[in-house]
Amino acid sequence: MVDPVRLLPREDREAALADAGYNVFNLDSADVFVDLLTDSGTGTMSNDQWAAMVRGDEAYAGSEGFAELEAAAREVMGFEQIVPAHQGRGAENVLYGALVSEGDTVLNNAHFDTTRAHVAANGGDPVDCPVEAATDMESEAPFKGDFSVERGRQVVEEVGEENVPVVVLTITNNSMAGQPVSVENTRDVAAFAADIDATFVVDACRFAENAHFVRQREPEFADESVAAIAREQLSYADACVMSGKKDGLVNIGGFVGLRGDGELYEQCRQRGILYEGFSTYGGMSGRDLAAFAVGLREAVDPPYVAERVEQVQRLCQALADRGVPVYQPAGGHAVYVDANQVFPHIPREAFPGQALVCELYREGGVRGVELGRFAFPDTDRRDLVRLALPRRTYGPDHIEHVADTAAAVCERAEDVSGLEIVSEPSMPELRHFSAELEPLE
Ligand SMILES: *Cc1c(COP(=O)(O)O)cnc(C)c1O
Repeated sequence: MVDPVRLLPREDREAALADAGYNVFNLDSADVFVDLLTDSGTGTMSNDQWAAMVRGDEAYAGSEGFAELEAAAREVMGFEQIVPAHQGRGAENVLYGALVSEGDTVLNNAHFDTTRAHVAANGGDPVDCPVEAATDMESEAPFKGDFSVERGRQVVEEVGEENVPVVVLTITNNSMAGQPVSVENTRDVAAFAADIDATFVVDACRFAENAHFVRQREPEFADESVAAIAREQLSYADACVMSGKKDGLVNIGGFVGLRGDGELYEQCRQRGILYEGFSTYGGMSGRDLAAFAVGLREAVDPPYVAERVEQVQRLCQALADRGVPVYQPAGGHAVYVDANQVFPHIPREAFPGQALVCELYREGGVRGVELGRFAFPDTDRRDLVRLALPRRTYGPDHIEHVADTAAAVCERAEDVSGLEIVSEPSMPELRHFSAELEPLE
């Protein structure tokens, strides 16, 4: 399907930005030229997926689409049972509600924000265990997304292993610049989880992109197919959480993947019925289930996933070539620009990341997202701006346009000032979605 886009004249972009309260979540998508806000649910479906949509059977119970999705989850990911959910966070609510109770600690290579929120909502304490290279913008280490088992063991020693019921591995590591996780690390984390009697969950949202990186970077797997690597990597997990909006190649949907129909499956099934919908649709329509089933199979198609990851690498390279400071190497779904290096004169309290987001829109109608001090008020992480590429959507001209836009902003960086917040919601964790700002003099 073709979706026409247009670049508004500069003065209209200025007006749109002011109307949006200098928060690009408030822009109309029609006013955005290249939309890199997120890769979640924003991709393009294939002809086979559209065909599946038309065939989709809208039965409440036992639809064909559900049988197809269950078969795809089994064959592509190796999970015998699924509990469907309307999207990834619905699946997180189903699974973490069953596994986590008050006072528990949950370990993760890095919690994605909705994962963190679901652990906390169940009274748990989410603790990140990234490897050291993860926060080094320049390290060329191949698997900067890995889980530090050493860090995990330290936490277990502090809190006691009886209080750590769940260990999660997020592949790729969304909160650490989309960096991949090796199969070797997956085996180590599985052994560690078994050792402390914890359930080992893989957050598999980008399992196919991760498998592509493994094939390229982990010598043991150089001759394996992406599909075989994905199955092997997921085979170590007791359960998975999946968002169809990422490597499911659909616009909405998700599930919990489980092994066997034991107690955990039964608990998840009941929670699924309560919060998501009956266990053969979970908040998705029959046509969504059918398109998701096709998307899961397409996600491990070698030419698709290679082109997908390489497009992100091309954007990263195009930015680096123009002197824009980027996190290296590129992750699987997004490129991260370091706003502290772009605007060294803007103090962190004046949100240099958000200033960069605004300038990218003002300069070239490009929408990115701030993941620094504005999004995470308590963080001491750098002020990074994420440019996430929707799957199968943009072409080389768009990539060039984004790189040229960012380079033009860097060129006039001294003239850019910071911002201040003029209104914000009561929940600080959700600030960046709806706060309004104003430029400082
Ligand atoms: C997107 C995402 C989720 C949540 O999925 P939604 O479909 O957005 O609810 C969970 N974990 C990770 C790593 C994600 O990227």
